Amino acid sequence: MKAIQLISLSILLLGLVACDPDKPNTNGNHTNTTTVPSEPVKVPAFDGKSAYDFVQKQVDFGPRVPNTEPHKKCAAWLQEQFQGFGAEVIMQNAMIDGPKGDKINMTNIIASYNPAHTHRVLLCAHWDTRSVADEDTVRQDEPILGADDGGSGVGVLLEIARLISTNPIDMGIDIVLFDVEDQGIRQTKGLVAKRETWCLGSQYWANHLHKEGYKAKFGILLDMVGSTGARFPKEGISIKFAARYVDQVWNEALNLGYSDLFVQGKDNRQITDDHFFVNQIAKIPTLDIINLPENTNQAFGHYWHTHQDNMSVISPHTLHAVGSVLTNVIYKEAAKHDR
Ligand SMILES: [Zn+2]
Repeated sequence: MKAIQLISLSILLLGLVACDPDKPNTNGNHTNTTTVPSEPVKVPAFDGKSAYDFVQKQVDFGPRVPNTEPHKKCAAWLQEQFQGFGAEVIMQNAMIDGPKGDKINMTNIIASYNPAHTHRVLLCAHWDTRSVADEDTVRQDEPILGADDGGSGVGVLLEIARLISTNPIDMGIDIVLFDVEDQGIRQTKGLVAKRETWCLGSQYWANHLHKEGYKAKFGILLDMVGSTGARFPKEGISIKFAARYVDQVWNEALNLGYSDLFVQGKDNRQITDDHFFVNQIAKIPTLDIINLPENTNQAFGHYWHTHQDNMSVISPHTLHAVGSVLTNVIYKEAAKHDR
């Protein structure tokens, strides 16, 4: 991940005025037109330690850079994991043009539950890791381990898959792991790139959906969701395209007591992340849970695109918080549909 984009702030603001159906009411509670379940919904407990172990396992493969052996081995392992957790798995392989005119053997991994259900939620993350440590001061040409940038989102989604396998959910869930998110070329200030070199896997998926006519009610993208002291404000593109679902997720975090991580304030930064292409091309309203430090001089976490992005920055507590919010959102969403 990628650059902060300052495009279309005016469009964002217009969009906010035009479509903000989910304003809180005067006592601060969220109003919603969907039927509220009368009984408490049974939500399985998310295990942060288990998610941590799934991050560790990925890191143990080494950097997961496309066209390398660890990348290939990790793909096979991810396929095996999801199949073991009872999902229908599609490995979407394609040879695509890389950022430097190279050819990249790309694999998006799609794990689906209840594939025939029309009520569906998309959960996604990228699973590749950056081939260079260009934000580091040393060994800049070497790949990073990507424990947080890549590994954390996948770790949370593997744990969700494990939970679904033992706690059936009456809704369709598609876990999509995008490849080739993080191999983009850093843009020189003032220059406009001929094409977006980040998020190539999600661009491919959005243009070649794994099932014809695929639809989901909404999507949630996880990117850098596992570090100690992470901070997840409401990111700009998410608000622009998926405001009501941003409220649904952040209200759930508030209810669960995680407002220290899921800060309630809006953030004017817009991040070119996979959700941008899912929104723009696949037209599925999708939000991004992404670690954005408060200090705006610093784009992302201090370890971002450096060799510090290893297991030492990963916190089972942060993984637990993000996973618990996600688990509550999906099981409660499924119950809404039922009643
Ligand atoms: Zn990155």
